[in-house]
Amino acid sequence: MPELPEVETIRRELKPKIINQKIQDCIILRKDIIALPTPRKFCRSIVNEEITDVTRRAKYLILELTNYKKLIFHLRLSGVISLKSCDTEPERFTRAIIKLQDYQLFFNEPRVLGRIYLIKNDERPEILKGYLNLGYEPISPEFDFNYFRERIRNRKARIKSLLLDQHICAGVGNIYSDEALFHAGIRPLRRAYRLTIEETFKLLLSLKNVLNKAIDNFGTSVSDYKRTDGKDGNFQNFLFVYSNEGKPCRICGTEIILKKIGSRNTRYCPKCQK
Ligand SMILES: [Zn+2]
Repeated sequence: MPELPEVETIRRELKPKIINQKIQDCIILRKDIIALPTPRKFCRSIVNEEITDVTRRAKYLILELTNYKKLIFHLRLSGVISLKSCDTEPERFTRAIIKLQDYQLFFNEPRVLGRIYLIKNDERPEILKGYLNLGYEPISPEFDFNYFRERIRNRKARIKSLLLDQHICAGVGNIYSDEALFHAGIRPLRRAYRLTIEETFKLLLSLKNVLNKAIDNFGTSVSDYKRTDGKDGNFQNFLFVYSNEGKPCRICGTEIILKKIGSRNTRYCPKCQK
């Protein structure tokens, strides 16, 4: 559920508060949350390290630590990272706590699908191949017309599925693929190779615009996603199709349709999107 804009919001909120803080302690309340290495080794390896930077890659949040260590959070569907005062008690779904000098970082995850990894900078473990093989992010300058066109022009897959492919559009998920296709006027069911050059260009711009606007609005809170202080994001107020099924289109009044593409729910306006 948290996509690029949500994780970027978390990164921006955490960085000024936790940079240069030393990790004092680490408490794992649910062992399977730690995917690499073992929970005990994980805690031993991070305690006494300092946070040198807070970065992000696609939907992964990364704490860069001293001694070339990287702590990687993958929030998956419902992971929430929040910053609490030092005396806050664990909550019902708190799975891991990283204690810093001035804060505690809670990793809450009701469905226990999210994961935390610790690696050295030069390690490339098989378990992280999803992270290591990401494509470019649509908001980056490298994600230009040639990059995008080359990756979709010969593909028979539906365009929606390709927008969700992390090798192509790193960081994009269900919310922003639906919204980008709406603003480009393209039906999600279209076969990628049938998009014209103009449509491809429109979709490229639309992806960049939607993601940047969502970052400016602190992400989309429609289910579990919260900011690090527990508040909602704001981009749910700017959605045109996602979570709008059954409602009239904000442009033309036609009812927004919900369809499954692969295993993913997809929303679109049958009139505005061709
Ligand atoms: Zn419409």
